[in-house]
This record gives sequence, structure tokens and C-alpha cells, in this order.
Amino acid sequence: MPMLADPQAASRLLAERFAAAARAVVFTGAGISTESGIPDFRSPGGIWSRMKPIEFAGFLASEEVRLEDWRRRFRMRREFAAAEPNAGHRAVARLVEAGVVAAVVTQNIDGLHQRAGVAEDDVVELHGNGTRAACLDCAAPMSLEAAEAAIAASGRAPRCAACGGLVKAAIVSFGQPMPPSEMARARAASLDCDLFVVVGSSLVVHPAAGFPELARRNGAGLVILNREPTPLDGAADLVLRGAIGEVLGPLAAPGTPASG
Ligand code: NAD
Ligand code: ZN
Repeated sequence: MPMLADPQAASRLLAERFAAAARAVVFTGAGISTESGIPDFRSPGGIWSRMKPIEFAGFLASEEVRLEDWRRRFRMRREFAAAEPNAGHRAVARLVEAGVVAAVVTQNIDGLHQRAGVAEDDVVELHGNGTRAACLDCAAPMSLEAAEAAIAASGRAPRCAACGGLVKAAIVSFGQPMPPSEMARARAASLDCDLFVVVGSSLVVHPAAGFPELARRNGAGLVILNREPTPLDGAADLVLRGAIGEVLGPLAAPGTPASG
């Protein structure tokens, strides 16, 4: 497993890999959004060092827990709205536009890939999207603004206008089942690519972290770009240990092999 830490050399090698691929998949984690000012979970100072996650069972069982979950979602919505896509997101969008990357599979819930220009159809959001909410029973959508207004007016967690069910931010909480359609799309993309590039993921969250393994077993090249080691580094063809913007950013520039 060759490992490279020089950003310029890493950038060139990565561009070459993309240029040689017929169908690439980019798989992103929270690390691609830290340069937009959104903290990840597992870096020092990351979200886990500040608060405990809310489990799905707790959300279902307790009004207190639901209200705490909503407070976090409203804070997060403001944080996402204030953030801008960074050089890494822009490079990924450029590679999709150039037809090099066939799908972006993300664990992120911040919507920044789409805001960088990747079409909704080209993004698989494995853990949902924190800028939306929906009824857990009938899937009727509710905006976070409407949810916030409802709580301000009643002091209670919002219920679905159509069926009375619990409304929840459209993210996959701990203990909540993964969305079957997104899982199927991620699986299909992983089996249908000849290059799988991990960007900014600790690769410890399952089942998401199973997709790079699946692609690898199916014969795709595996490249991992992450600041810290991951459990899959040993299985990768190439490990790039750098800052994402520095390594991926130059790939958005005209004249690089991948930008055709
Ligand atoms: P993670 O926090 O477990 O790992 C992020 C990895 O990115 C770390 O290994 C870190 O070393 C690396 N990293 C951070 N900034 C980097 C940079 N600038 N350059 C290179 N590497 C960098 O994140 P994960 O693997 O995505 O899994 C955590 C879960 O957190 C996911 O389920 C995701 O849904 C959720 N999450 C999402 C967001 C978001 O949407 N932006 C933010 C926090 C957590
Ligand atoms: Zn409903």
C-alpha cells in the first residue's frame, strides 16, 4: 500500500487515477466539510468531544429527547446555512461534471455537495439530510423553519399535519434503520465502478464503511485521502495523507488530467 504525504505529488497521482478510470465513485465523510467550518465527529475538538449522540429509540420514547434533538437540528441548520462549499466540494463537482465521477456517495448530511453543483441524482446521502425534516410514519415533508415555529408556538415537538405521526429531521440517527433506497444506490455504484476514492472519512461507521470494501473486492482500485489512518488503509492501492483542499482542490483547475 503506497502512502504519500506530499500534497502536490498526491494531487498529481490522484488526478492520474481519475484520468485512467472509466467510472469513478467518490465516497465522502465529515472530513470534506471541515474546511467549510463544519466540525467532524472524530478529530480532536470534533462533535463527539462536546456532546453525546441522541439515539433513535430515545427520540421515539421521550418528548424531552425530541425537543433536545430539534434544538440541535436548528443549530445545525444555521451552521450549514452559514457554511460554503470548499475547494474539495468544488473539485468533486467538477469531476462529476466532467463525467469522470459517476456517483458521490456521502455520509454527510450538510448538503454541501449539491450546493457545489452536484445534481441531486448524482449524490447518495447514506445518512440523510439535515436541512430537511419528514414524518416518520407517512414521510410527509416539513421544513425545519416550520418545525421551529411549531415548537416556539406550542413548546411541543411537531406532529405530522397529515397523520399525526412524529416528525423528525431527515437524518439517520444512531439506532435508526438505514434508508433502503440509498443503500441500494450506494451498493450499485460501488459494484459498477473501477475506481473508488474515499475522501475525509474515518471509515469506522458501518454499514457505510462497507462500500469501499465492497468496491475493492469487486476489483475496483481503492484510494483513501484522509488526514488520519483508517482501518482500510492496508487494503488500499494508494493512501494519501493530506489536507483535502490541498490535494483535491487542484483537480478542479483546468489543465489537470482529470478535468479533460
Ligand atoms: P469522522 O468524523 O468519523 O471522520 C472524519 C475524518 O476526516 C477523520 O479521520 C479526519 O482525520 C479526517 N479529516 C478531517 N478534516 C480533514 C481535512 N481537512 N483533510 C483531510 N482529512 C480530514 O467522519 P465520518 O467518517 O464521516 O463519520 C462520521 C459520521 O458523522 C457520519 O455518519 C456523518 O453522517 C456524520 N457527520 C456529518 C457531518 C457533515 O455532514 N458535515 C459532520 C459531522 C458528522
Ligand atoms: Zn405523517
